[in-house]
Amino acid sequence: MTIQVLAAAILIASLSMREAAAEGFELVTREAWGAKPAIQQRMTEHQPSGLIIHHTSVAQQPKLSLERKMRGLQAFSQRPGKVGKRRKPAWGDVPYHFYIGVSGRIAVGRSLQYAGDTNTNYSTSGWIQVVVEGDFTKEKPTQAQLAALRALTTHLKTTFGITGARITAHDDHASTNCPGSALKRYLPTLR
Ligand SMILES: [Zn+2]
Repeated sequence: MTIQVLAAAILIASLSMREAAAEGFELVTREAWGAKPAIQQRMTEHQPSGLIIHHTSVAQQPKLSLERKMRGLQAFSQRPGKVGKRRKPAWGDVPYHFYIGVSGRIAVGRSLQYAGDTNTNYSTSGWIQVVVEGDFTKEKPTQAQLAALRALTTHLKTTFGITGARITAHDDHASTNCPGSALKRYLPTLR
């Protein structure tokens, strides 16, 4: 890992609730949502230089806490299973670096030091994976989610020197309907 990535990873990790709030978003740390340790042997280090936006592809669940959803996602991620009809191996951690819940609170996922995981066919190396809760082929992102996505994107662009052209959607990389048209339409406004 380069010093630059390490510095940026530490910066994100140490971003206090107050600092994040000043930049317009609320971060829920791994400690706060009760993450289990990541399994490092199953993950690959990388140098973040772009952003990929996803949806969870399941309906928004406002009554379930973000913390509980993250614990569930991590448990699913760390064991073998299926995504749709495709089998997935046990991953080292949640596949995404950030998860934007329906209320706009942002949970810290996989360490930025490691590339994400996917069940579609593209290289995740170099990409920061951001997922927004919902199925945006059928429903719309909330105003709070859009505001959080905008603030987080601005922060990551500055931190990693990411250019507008490297702000992308999952369907720019692989054959998928992710992140859904109701979210994808906001992409140009984030660049
Ligand atoms: Zn996706």
